[in-house]
Amino acid sequence: MGYKIPLFKLNFDEKEAQAAFDTINSGWISTGPKNEALEQMFIDMFHVKYAVSVTNCTGALHLACMLCGLGPGDEVLCPSLTFAASVNCIRYVGATPVFCDIVSPKHLNIDPKEIEKKITPKTKAMVVVHMAGFPAKMDEIMAIARKHNLRVIEDACHGPLSEYKGKKLGTIGDVAAFSFFSNKNISTGEGGMLITNNEEFAKKARLLRSHGMTTMSYQRAGGHATAYDIVELGYNYRLDDIRASIAIEQMKKLPGDLERRIAVRKRYLEKLANVKGVVVPFADCTEFVSNYIMPVVLTNSTKERRDAIRDKIHECGVQTSVHYPAIHRFSIYKDYKAELPVTEYVTDNEITLPMYASLSDADVDFIVETLDKAING
Ligand SMILES: *Cc1c(COP(=O)(O)O)cnc(C)c1O
Repeated sequence: MGYKIPLFKLNFDEKEAQAAFDTINSGWISTGPKNEALEQMFIDMFHVKYAVSVTNCTGALHLACMLCGLGPGDEVLCPSLTFAASVNCIRYVGATPVFCDIVSPKHLNIDPKEIEKKITPKTKAMVVVHMAGFPAKMDEIMAIARKHNLRVIEDACHGPLSEYKGKKLGTIGDVAAFSFFSNKNISTGEGGMLITNNEEFAKKARLLRSHGMTTMSYQRAGGHATAYDIVELGYNYRLDDIRASIAIEQMKKLPGDLERRIAVRKRYLEKLANVKGVVVPFADCTEFVSNYIMPVVLTNSTKERRDAIRDKIHECGVQTSVHYPAIHRFSIYKDYKAELPVTEYVTDNEITLPMYASLSDADVDFIVETLDKAING
């Protein structure tokens, strides 16, 4: 609030409001036809076999850990430069996160060399995050997974429709999670999607998202079933149809939204090329990506200097953020004693600049000039 240029703006118009209004007036607001339509959109647009809508990405990640059969005694490799949910989900099922460093300030995703180093006989799976929507090194990662018989969970929250060598992110590993939180590429307030090409996983995810019940209210209301059994210890991770109908409008806008973001990033790259003292992560990536956020990393810097630079930028009316405070430094993860020098440098020296479809060239120019002045005086 109060910033001339905020970090993010919703890509909403009357369509989202109309969709929610229509669903409310339809007489069916809980999980039903709008969720079925949304799941089908994911199947069609992501070229994946199964999609299961859920309350949020955190729920999808929890279910993904259950589907992969993870539990106490199992080790799961994960990055620390991510949102807490990517790691907390491992602990929900009693398994142990093992933090891996990222490649470099130019490539903020988990380092396959670190993955290989940290594999033990207890390692069962890994959570891979595609930072800012840029693909992790999936060829190397999938080769390691095959060699050591590990499951791969893709936290693809940042990368809806992002690609890696012709495949959509989230369709390369065993199972993937997406978020519809307000500031994501697809916004519904809260919401999420689990996708997989594994039929057993999809069936089990459907059970687990609704108490392990064999039928849902919508099916019973349709006269398809009158009784149900409870066959798994499930949860209530259902997405309601009001939110699903908003998600459908957001999905329709997504390809156009991403085209705009690509143009915004291009402008950023042109302007940032003349700014001394910053590297732009993934600057050489030529894949189609979602550009969820616009991170830059200061060179030869410290956390104190970064924080002072952010303060100067804020004084000029531009909002910034940090992606992310490293998970392994949080109180509940300190005992894991992870040593991640690259992650620690990036978490202390990263600045996230504004990124959204309606950001104009003039806005980008102003942001970069402001950054340049804050860094170089
Ligand atoms: C936003 C986010 C999540 C959590 O998503 P919710 O839908 O809010 O649960 C998990 N992982 C990453 C990388 C995220 O950015």
